[in-house]
Formats: sequence, C-alpha cells, structure tokens
Amino acid sequence: MATRRLILLGAPGAGKGTQAQLLMQDLGLPQVSTGDILRAAVKEGTPLGLEAQSYMNRGALVPDAVVIGLIEDRLARPDAGGGWILDGFPRTPAQAEALDGLLTNLDQSLEAVVLIDVPEAQLIERLTGRRTCPLCKRIFHVRFNPPPAAPPFCTDHADCPSELVQRPDDTLEVVSKRLNVYRESTEPLIRYYQQQQKLTSVDGDRSPEVVYSELRELLG
Ligand SMILES: [Zn+2]
Repeated sequence: MATRRLILLGAPGAGKGTQAQLLMQDLGLPQVSTGDILRAAVKEGTPLGLEAQSYMNRGALVPDAVVIGLIEDRLARPDAGGGWILDGFPRTPAQAEALDGLLTNLDQSLEAVVLIDVPEAQLIERLTGRRTCPLCKRIFHVRFNPPPAAPPFCTDHADCPSELVQRPDDTLEVVSKRLNVYRESTEPLIRYYQQQQKLTSVDGDRSPEVVYSELRELLG
C-alpha cells in the first residue's frame, strides 16, 4: 500500500511546489494548504472561517487553535479520505503535536514526512538567478532557463519587448533572510519527525523528473 498521507518539507527554491503538483496529478491526492483552507472557509462563512476572518481583519495572526480546527474540517472531507499532502502546516513542533491529535480524532495517521534536501549554495543560485518579466510575468533563470540576449527579451512574446527584472524577493539579501527563517523554523520540526521515525529525505539537487521518480519509489 502506497503512502498516501504525507507532509513535504523543503526550503524556498527546493522544488516542493513542483513535486507536490506531480504527486497530486499522479496519485490524485488533494494538496491541503493552510492558505487555501483559510481563504475557502472565510468565503464560505463557516463558524471557524468567520472567527479566522475576525483576526485577519485586525491584521492579527490566526491562532493555532483556529487553524487546527480548519485543517481537521478539511481532512474530514470525502476527497481527503484516500490521502492528502499537507502544505505549509505544521510549522512548529507544537503544531505538529496538534496535528497528531487531530489525526487521532479522525482515525487517520501521518505516514511520511519527506524533506526535499538541496544544498544552500544551490538554493541561492536557483533563487537569485531568477529574472521576471514585469509585463507578462514569465520567469527565466540566468543559467537554467536563460532569456534571449537581444530584444524581444521575453521569448515567444514578440509583443512583449520588456526588459526582465530581478524581483526584490530574489535578491541575495532577501534570499539569505528567507533561508535563515526557513532553517530556524524547520530544524525543530525535522527533529520532531526524526524522533517519530517518520522523516525521510530526497536529494533535491537534481532535475525535477529525477527527484520525482525517487520520491514515487520512496512512497511505494
Ligand atoms: Zn514578457
């Protein structure tokens, strides 16, 4: 029986989104993201959604108890009965413990936590090399997906002669900060799941296809 209830962990630039997308298409598992759940619950006006909105309206963080309730509601839905990929949650060991508790309530269990591991130098190269077209939003990479050297700079868009820019998020200074935040918040979580013997890692310093085939093999 393949692993069908899992968490993917990975730094910004590690390719977590791409791998989650491939798993969703391949295994038909819903990707359960806290951001999506919050937006949906607010839109539907569920009791927890209204409570979450009252915090967001004040610019406050939605408390763990509310987020956990929303996740429990989401994982109890029929489309999550055959498995799920949790995205963006848990972020702390306390949230991981709460997740264990809610899964017990639902009679479900977390089967694997997969870390997509990419060396920091590689993450920096991936993120700082990105160039974005401010007009059509296409994304290039100076090394892995280079834009044409002469105008039109934006390939296949003869009508888009815009010069590419480096978004502020992709500058070395901001990238280093994002990676620090990631490391500090994720390391305790990694230890938590190591202790539970649920953590496995995949070498993410390869092409998305190769990473995916190893991930699939690992999940059985
Ligand atoms: Zn463009």
